[in-house]
Amino acid sequence: MYNPSSKGFKRICCYMLNRIHSASTLFLCILVGFLIFAMPSVSAQMSGQEAILETNDQKWAIALHGGAGYVSPDMPEERKKRYMAALDSALTIGVDILETGGSSLDAVEQTVRFLEDNPLFNAGRGAVFTSEGKNELDAAIMDGSQMNAGAATGLKTVKHPISLARIIMEESRHILFAGDGAEQYADQTTIERVDSEYFKVPARYEAWKRANESQGYLESQPDNGWKMGTVGCVAVDKTGRLVAGTSTGGMTNKRYGRVGDVPIIGSGTYADEQVAVSATGWGERIMLNVSAHRLASHMRYTGANLDESMDYLVYELLNEGEAGFIAVDRDGNISMETNTGSMFRASQSEGGEKTVAIWK
Ligand code: ASP
Repeated sequence: MYNPSSKGFKRICCYMLNRIHSASTLFLCILVGFLIFAMPSVSAQMSGQEAILETNDQKWAIALHGGAGYVSPDMPEERKKRYMAALDSALTIGVDILETGGSSLDAVEQTVRFLEDNPLFNAGRGAVFTSEGKNELDAAIMDGSQMNAGAATGLKTVKHPISLARIIMEESRHILFAGDGAEQYADQTTIERVDSEYFKVPARYEAWKRANESQGYLESQPDNGWKMGTVGCVAVDKTGRLVAGTSTGGMTNKRYGRVGDVPIIGSGTYADEQVAVSATGWGERIMLNVSAHRLASHMRYTGANLDESMDYLVYELLNEGEAGFIAVDRDGNISMETNTGSMFRASQSEGGEKTVAIWK
């Protein structure tokens, strides 16, 4: 039994008090350290989006194209104005989304949808005709931040192929649907459908008849404008998310079942965490060079910047008259080049100049 007045007991008490004192000092040090070092990151995580915006100097940027090919600079003034106005309006849609903190995925989809509705362009409503006088539409979208993509080819009744591509990316476990399978997949969604007559725009139909009469499939003479009109958009948003989307009717008088570069991930459409690319032009040549991915891998493996990588693709890999591309990189740089003489295009970046152009 302990005697509370004994010396031994007092010594034990003193020892215990000392221990408690140094333990509480240690506890205090840990607490202060936690407050100084750990709290800021915890609070940053807890406040999510705001925390990202506070520390983020990421710039948004967007570029779009409405097809590459050869268009004479003598194009009637009124027609030129219609193209320029359409490109400008499409750009405004994407810019408004990005400026107000929206995602590059929405910006790309909405911009492309607008162009799909405009019969001036070879996508959606204005799609060109196949050798059988029908319309078969292709589209793809890729989200570089997720390394995820969706695509469809040979669509006949989908009003906005780019939106079907997005649904495929987000909801399906596959990437590319073709023909009847793509239409069947669309049946299971709420995506807007149209009668195939919707795509029968008279100007396109006449162009097809002319091409058909002259057996014009894959005409590569750069003076007939056969390639113009595919649409595409690439964007990076305030979180650094890079997205590319492309939509097309393909090439005038293409054979039944022909698949071009647009829905082939890495050829006509590609995005990763560093760059987003969309192509337009002669699909077979674009595919043979795995073009969009080639630009991305040139940047990645050689350390070349966006413009240098674009030049390598457009002027070294591909031949004159074959294709044009738009791309944005993670830092908000924009590059738009064609070796065909002209490309309908527009772009803008945060704090930067707006470009709307057809020729050099
Ligand atoms: N690249 C598209 C295709 O070959 C055509 C185009 O860009 O005009 O399907």
